[in-house]
Amino acid sequence: PEGHRTEGNLTLGDIFIAVKTTKRFHQSRVELLLDTWISQASEQVSVWILTKEEGLVMGQGWGGHVIFTNCSAEHSHLALSCKMAAEAAMGKAPRARGTLLTANLLCLPLCPSWFCHLDDDNYLNPRALLKLLSSYSETWDVYLGKPSLNRPIWASETLPNNQTVQPVKSMRFWFATGGAGFCISRELARKMVPWASGRNFLSTSELIRLPDDCTVGFIIECKVGGQLIPNALFHSHLENLQLIPSSQLVQQVTLSYGVFENKLNVIELSGPFLPQEDPSRYGACVLWLLLLCESPDHRL
Ligand code: UDP
Ligand code: MN
Repeated sequence: PEGHRTEGNLTLGDIFIAVKTTKRFHQSRVELLLDTWISQASEQVSVWILTKEEGLVMGQGWGGHVIFTNCSAEHSHLALSCKMAAEAAMGKAPRARGTLLTANLLCLPLCPSWFCHLDDDNYLNPRALLKLLSSYSETWDVYLGKPSLNRPIWASETLPNNQTVQPVKSMRFWFATGGAGFCISRELARKMVPWASGRNFLSTSELIRLPDDCTVGFIIECKVGGQLIPNALFHSHLENLQLIPSSQLVQQVTLSYGVFENKLNVIELSGPFLPQEDPSRYGACVLWLLLLCESPDHRL
């Protein structure tokens, strides 16, 4: 129904979602996403899968909504910046892994209201995301996500000096863990441009020698002067996902699955699919959310 697509003035079409992946996970992870939340949301959400490699077969029903960063050859801003993101995603060093921002920042002024980053093992509930973002304005500096640690981290900017690396100054900041997904308002993204657009993102990452999600936090908190707004609706597989009550799954913005402390870490959700055929529970999740959305008692 139409009412599900909008929340206030914000619509799902105003939200840009980048899913970072790599060839190794095209089959094991991306196919699962395409079969679950992406296919369900693709009418409304603009989802970009950031990967440079070919090999994904465009399935029916989602071909128009997933854009490969094997980008078009044209020199439009979007095409160029999407290449940049693909380059970053290809980086071998952990700190050079893909980022959402390189893909997005050059599209100004025709930017989406919100930029959200997800890993390819995240489940997204677009309606919960819309509800969350609707309580903020894209004209404010907003950086929403799950803090990676329960304390800020320290980074030292370094300058290469005759083979040795000279610490310049230390700064402390919070960052949202990339594995739980995070969102940035257009206004904040605009202010991040000097440090985050194109190759600048990689240079900034090199400067502090930390991974991409830390780099995002560093740019926002140390360069722009913004602040992470911690939000408990984003989840990574580095937390115990069994602790989320199934009655509250409908409100969660992101979920995840994976191995944590040598055990499979997934949400607890019984459903029509057996754990063997749907170990991530994402299949069960889609049906569960559909069911609840139909029910007037469970309006978000
Ligand atoms: N990833 C990537 N390039 C790589 C390795 C990983 O883009 O060389 C992406 C991967 O697709 C995922 C994210 O980085 O979206 C995190 O990877 P993973 O879930 O394997 O690691 P962890 O969650 O343990 O950090
Ligand atoms: Mn992961």
